[in-house]
Amino acid sequence: MENETKHFIEQIIDKDLAEGVYDHVQTRFPPEPNGYLHIGHAKSILLNYGLAKKYQGRFNLRFDDTNPTKEKSEFVDSIKEDVAWLGADWEDRLFFASDYFETMYECAVFLIRKGKAFVCDLTAEQIREYRGTLTEPGKNSPYRDRSIEENLELFENMKKGLYQDGEKVLRAKIDMASPNINMRDPVIYRVAHMSHHNTGDAWCIYPMYDFAHPIEDAVEHVTHSICTLEFEDHRPLYNWVVQECEFDHPPKQIEFAKLYLKHVVTGKRYIKKLVEDGTVDGWDDPRLVSISGLRRRGYTPESIQKFVELAGVSKSNSTCEMPMLEYCIREDLKLKEPRMMAVLHPLKLIIDNYPDDQVEYMEVQNNQENPELGVREVPFCKELYIEREDFMEVPVKKYFRLYPGNEVRLMNGYFVTCTEVVKDEEGNVVEVHCTYDPETRSGNGFTGRKVKGTIHWVSARHAVKAEVRLYENIVDEEKGVYNEEDGSLNLNPNSLVILKDCRLEPGLAGAKAPERFQFVRNGYFCVDSKDSRPESLVFNRIVSLKSSFKIEVK
Ligand code: ATP
Ligand code: MG
Repeated sequence: MENETKHFIEQIIDKDLAEGVYDHVQTRFPPEPNGYLHIGHAKSILLNYGLAKKYQGRFNLRFDDTNPTKEKSEFVDSIKEDVAWLGADWEDRLFFASDYFETMYECAVFLIRKGKAFVCDLTAEQIREYRGTLTEPGKNSPYRDRSIEENLELFENMKKGLYQDGEKVLRAKIDMASPNINMRDPVIYRVAHMSHHNTGDAWCIYPMYDFAHPIEDAVEHVTHSICTLEFEDHRPLYNWVVQECEFDHPPKQIEFAKLYLKHVVTGKRYIKKLVEDGTVDGWDDPRLVSISGLRRRGYTPESIQKFVELAGVSKSNSTCEMPMLEYCIREDLKLKEPRMMAVLHPLKLIIDNYPDDQVEYMEVQNNQENPELGVREVPFCKELYIEREDFMEVPVKKYFRLYPGNEVRLMNGYFVTCTEVVKDEEGNVVEVHCTYDPETRSGNGFTGRKVKGTIHWVSARHAVKAEVRLYENIVDEEKGVYNEEDGSLNLNPNSLVILKDCRLEPGLAGAKAPERFQFVRNGYFCVDSKDSRPESLVFNRIVSLKSSFKIEVK
């Protein structure tokens, strides 16, 4: 498209390609394997992958696993699954930053030889004291002027394991008076006697993030290294590392604003706690905005792509609302999925004048807005289930559904008039009796009279039983996500409602994850991938039908 507006990163890439700074585009997604991915990561994944695709470039998946403390293989697997599910294809370029430890070590030695790095004996606390503040310059370390030979030897000893954790560090020699604190002789290697999930005990020195990351990018010939805004102040150091290590293919760091979703929890610390104390059913609980949670809830990759697109790419932080994400899934499913009848809170309806053993098969369009989805047959008989809320013994004003004496249309069926109710000992309505008018069969072109209410139903004899789970935000939006006093989460006690006795039309028998449906008047639902069995179906409500989110349709 000629007149398409490009976001600022595309403009940078256009310029770089036009000026010959790069002749190709190479991006990457660099997750730390220390948790599950969430909706914010989806933005980074789809942005990086989308740019590679748009510019016929390449996209790498690289695990940023240089930190030996936190990483877990469990997370590596889940991250791969999530990235692939979102549609971002790394082809054969799956990398682990820890595979570059040798290169990083060589880079460090190279810097020492250039007189650009030194081994420092100050403690972490002293280093902090010497660093100065935003308003005051720092002081040079007393070890800053060690000879190259001495530095080489001490660094070698660090590598050999001759020192305790924290006893010595390797620091870049830059400028203790720099207005940018990140440039005040930052630590680039530390001693840590820890096993690493990939390299085991091969190393007892580990590179710091700000040193490792640019090297990882350079090794992979990344051109545009896209990260979030909090790294803006680290860019001079990124550039320093790339330049001083004299890479042939210098990458460029570009920062963009994180995606924030209002009223949701994305912090790993919080989610981990919810998982551990059993508040949620794992990292893929459908109430979480982890990618695996959204997937289990029934979100599609397309809906998340659309959401990320709507959120846009910019340099200023902004917050998106949950209804925007819900809008995206509704839009995606609207024409794709069949619209079935399912009764979530069943109430028996008996048509007294309908022949006892008769069954009629009603032909029903699978999706009125998309005839391509075809038709199906739905059995109709004397005993049906309707939604409890579609009947009121004493109707409120403007209630057009079923009440004694009133006539309604049974969707895809007949007109029925309520004649009687049956109650249990406590006075609860347990059965509604009706009569039907055989003239009014749906599709027969009956025009004799009109009714104001249309309700859905399922045949009691043919219905399939199922469990349906209704979700709300896991946190209480009114109280705010976090409790101000102790920083804990304000949990919403109604975030999960389990309906054990729902009745579905028989066409839903045997449904399997990840099948999705509209249940008419009730929302969009999917088969739960973890708990549903053919003989005991479990559905999740993805989203209700109503939306408060409005968007201009282009
Ligand atoms: P941690 O705080 O534990 O480091 P993280 O969310 O930053 O967690 P990473 O694995 O470091 O997790 O992130 C991988 C990539 O995802 C990084 O490039 C990061 O910039 C990006 N990213 C993380 N959160 C968001 C977000 N909310 N919006 C957009 N991109 C994000
Ligand atoms: Mg991070």
